[in-house]
Amino acid sequence: MRLSRFFMPILKENPKEAEIVSHRLMLRTGMIRQQSSGIYTWLPLGKRVLDKVNAIVREEQNRTGANELLMPTLQSAELWQESGRYDAYGKEMLRIKDRQDRPMLYGPTNEEMITDVFRSYVKSYRSLPLNLYHIQLKFRDEIRPRFGTMRSREFLMKDAYSFDLDREGAEHAYNKMFAAYLRTFSRMGLRAIPMRADTGPIGGNLSHEFIILAETGESEVFCHKDFLGFDIPGEDTNFDDVAGLKKIFDKWTSRYAATSEMHDEAAFNEVAEGDRVSARGIEVGHIFYFGTKYSEAMGAKVLGPDGKEHTVHMGSYGIGPTRLVPAIIEASHDDNGIIWPKSISPFDGVIINMKAGDAACDAACETLYSKLGAAGFDALLDDTDDRAGAKFASADLIGVPVQIIVGPRSIANGEVELKDRKTGERETMSVEAALNKLIATK
Ligand code: ATP
Ligand code: MG
Repeated sequence: MRLSRFFMPILKENPKEAEIVSHRLMLRTGMIRQQSSGIYTWLPLGKRVLDKVNAIVREEQNRTGANELLMPTLQSAELWQESGRYDAYGKEMLRIKDRQDRPMLYGPTNEEMITDVFRSYVKSYRSLPLNLYHIQLKFRDEIRPRFGTMRSREFLMKDAYSFDLDREGAEHAYNKMFAAYLRTFSRMGLRAIPMRADTGPIGGNLSHEFIILAETGESEVFCHKDFLGFDIPGEDTNFDDVAGLKKIFDKWTSRYAATSEMHDEAAFNEVAEGDRVSARGIEVGHIFYFGTKYSEAMGAKVLGPDGKEHTVHMGSYGIGPTRLVPAIIEASHDDNGIIWPKSISPFDGVIINMKAGDAACDAACETLYSKLGAAGFDALLDDTDDRAGAKFASADLIGVPVQIIVGPRSIANGEVELKDRKTGERETMSVEAALNKLIATK
């Protein structure tokens, strides 16, 4: 992409409304634009990052054997009357009437609808286990939308729903998502800690919130410092291995970890003082086993191997991609701007032409740009006629991992400079060597 053709409205000043660094940086770099309270447009730079986040989420869901579908955002009130949640949900639910005066709603979540899909087709235990998910917009009329897309009213959610014959099967389904979540967040450069969460009236201990530690987090959290060093399940994780996944679950729940709602001061005090972490955190995912709550109310049953009807056991599993983007920025930035982890950076690198219009600089930039592109390295070419200083500042601000600096003096020797955004290290080398290095380390 040529910067001269790329719609990236960078702001010179810090927007006053932004209270936290990620919100400030997302506005400054032109990633998002607020349309009304808690409702955002994802501009091209932001959309690139969001797509990368979604791709990782999707890959890791698919790895577990989950099936992607896409349900509508608008739902009929009838389904919610069946489960009893239409009246229970309260003001967070946006209620709408269509032209026939039929009550509809903008879905805050999809348990009812997925249960309806399931019961329409699945009649036998042979179709189980089943996990259906989508990545879809939700609307919750939050009382206090804030921090940009961190807590918005319209937001993207990956919500997955599992169906099993019995509790045992449902626990395995839960452990699959548990391991997939550890991998998902880790691939984005985040360490998310599963913390016990409230299961409400259903009871049991099968609900975890995945929390990343951040000063600006909205939740107060308490955990053992061992979590910072636990191994993440590898790419070779076998999601059909019941005992293997249970082992991962056991390990990652073997130490104290709770948000303030579930905090047990006495239990926390049993952790050695030097091992206690009390911090603030951001909830980026939430997994939940709820048994037969919806399947019972909505009649989702299958014939079991015993020839009898069984009400299926369900779980639901959420991740917030539009919250993850600012959460990653909270975890990875410096005074000059964002520092994207490679895996979700909007571009693989930026080529900075220090003197656009200079024949040698222009030619070298074009060569780099086309050769990198051909090798699958997605570069942003700063071909504008801004001052070099302004270009360096924007490159730091948008935070792509590597800057390829082409200036008249070095290109006279056939050389360019590579700057690592994170460490600030610079290296001068021939154009050929730079190409080889960039392509090899992409
Ligand atoms: P919170 O406690 O932050 O209000 P929640 O517990 O209501 O969230 P869930 O219903 O568990 O949220 O939703 C699953 C995921 O969706 C959350 O872990 C979060 O990543 C994301 N999410 C929920 N609400 C919002 C929001 N208002 N804005 C952005 N993302 C959200
Ligand atoms: Mg939650």
